[in-house]
Amino acid sequence: MKAERERAARPRKRGPAKGELVFEGLGVSPGIAVGPAHVVEGGSVHVPEYRIEPDQIEAERARFSAAVAKAQKQLVKLKGKSANLPGTAAEEIGFLLDAHLQMLTGSRVVRGVEKLIEEGLNAEAAVQAEISKVAQDFAALDDAYMAARAQDIREVGDRLIRNLTQTPYEAFSHLSPGSIIVGEELTPADTALMNPELVGGLAAVLGGAESHTAIMARSLGLPAVLGVAGLIGNVRSGDVIAIDGDGGRIYLNPSTKTLAQLKTRQAEDEREEKQLSRLKKLPAITRDGIAIGLQANLELPRELDMAMDAGAEGVGLLRTEFLYMNRDDLPDEDEQYKIYVELIEGLSGRPITARTLDVGADKLAYSLAAHLGGGINPALGLRAIRLSLRERSLLEAQLAAMIRAGAHGPLRILLPMISTLIEIRQVREVLDRVVRRLHRRRVKVPDPLPPIGVMIEVPGAALSADAFAQIVDFFAIGTNDLTMYTLAIDRGEEQVAHLYNPLHPAVLRLIQFATEAALRARIPVSVCGEIAGDPRYTPLLLGLGIRELSMAATALPRVKQRIRDLDLVAATRCASTIMDQSDPGRIAALLDDFNTLA
Ligand code: PEP
Ligand code: MG
Repeated sequence: MKAERERAARPRKRGPAKGELVFEGLGVSPGIAVGPAHVVEGGSVHVPEYRIEPDQIEAERARFSAAVAKAQKQLVKLKGKSANLPGTAAEEIGFLLDAHLQMLTGSRVVRGVEKLIEEGLNAEAAVQAEISKVAQDFAALDDAYMAARAQDIREVGDRLIRNLTQTPYEAFSHLSPGSIIVGEELTPADTALMNPELVGGLAAVLGGAESHTAIMARSLGLPAVLGVAGLIGNVRSGDVIAIDGDGGRIYLNPSTKTLAQLKTRQAEDEREEKQLSRLKKLPAITRDGIAIGLQANLELPRELDMAMDAGAEGVGLLRTEFLYMNRDDLPDEDEQYKIYVELIEGLSGRPITARTLDVGADKLAYSLAAHLGGGINPALGLRAIRLSLRERSLLEAQLAAMIRAGAHGPLRILLPMISTLIEIRQVREVLDRVVRRLHRRRVKVPDPLPPIGVMIEVPGAALSADAFAQIVDFFAIGTNDLTMYTLAIDRGEEQVAHLYNPLHPAVLRLIQFATEAALRARIPVSVCGEIAGDPRYTPLLLGLGIRELSMAATALPRVKQRIRDLDLVAATRCASTIMDQSDPGRIAALLDDFNTLA
């Protein structure tokens, strides 16, 4: 039954060679990789088992309901995604996903789990116990159709357990070198576990171009394609697949002709990279002599070498979420301090901007699951600075570690998702308390204290930039979230990815407003969203007055090349024409014309 469905789910064949299948998706991280597929399954999740007290039963039931609601959302999303599959595949997969959805709506499984929770069992163990009972009953019926349903029930159970534990799928440590990771959804926490020495690239059914999974893939230099319908069920572990991260294509069993074409492109990329590496030691200076600061965004400490190698002048954004991912406890002050100091030492005097925890929405952390909850809309919920201000001990440990590390080298502290002045004042109060405590502990505190800056990534913050500039030391404009919140387009949602547009005049006006507020107040302002690493945007950002950019290390050489080719007077004129426009299409055309000619 299942095998039949999988056969039916195959997309149309393309290419002359027998067996080659081509899947289309969003090319989110450039490059080409060919290797054995490693399909991520959900069955390997560790299931904790413990008793819960009577006064915790209500909360446990709520946790289970949230996991069910999340599973329903995931299944509806997958169904939408597979609706465009060719032939009978959409119908077959839709039928399967409907069956899974039914099992989550007032079913025997749901009722059974709720009963076990009421008896004092934790939700994960209750799901596992109930699923095995129901699946065994079905399997015992000695009927091929019912046996297939037993498998479906196990898949639904795995999904629920994964949602409850928020566990990454696996460690990716026993792979053959060059493996291509394939999954329904690969989270930033999953991606953080991928070692580029073993992993060649990644592909998933879900995910958008500005999702953190995509950002992490770009940072690690792993070719990646997301939003690929039909992957699961067609690709099996061990199959040879090729990823084209520029064209957004996945080739299953690539033909000899395809392999030859990809190899030629790979050789061209290598030649270009070699040429760009010559720029490494040259300054990022425009043709008319204006120096631009180019720094690197780090997702993981192990990217530092890559950043230094690419000629970064410092770390413009250290995303500290990695500290909280793939573990079930929280990092304490000392652990964080040591990591920050190691980075500072690795930077040999170059500056680092460390951002406090920005977890939430697509950036989940198992260790914080109890604090984060699901919320109706996680992107607008208790996340980032809001979570840090609610869970003060998290913020205090992080600020103390950063301040102490600041005694070892130039470190700035950056606050994510700030939307009101009050939040900045509250953080300053916590900071004062932390400093007093450090003094009492006779710990070395730098004098002056590290500068405190804010991310400008919420429209409300951009429009309050003149007031913010009076009480902070610097701005970092986060265009990823600024675009998302201005246009109400989820950056990780592949179905609306075509509407995500940083060149929308509303986004550009907010960038301009915040930049001018910073320049008037004479505080540093940088852009650290993904557009900072795209040379197409370089003339526009520089033309708006930006002189500092921070980006994935892999993007540095191309942006530097663009800067060295650029005349700032011409770029400023181009930016000023663009800022008079109201049509995003016209803006894109003007920018493309400028990039072709200048
Ligand atoms: C941004 O939002 O542009 C940004 C740099 O932060 P992050 O991508 O980590 O949300
Ligand atoms: Mg952001």
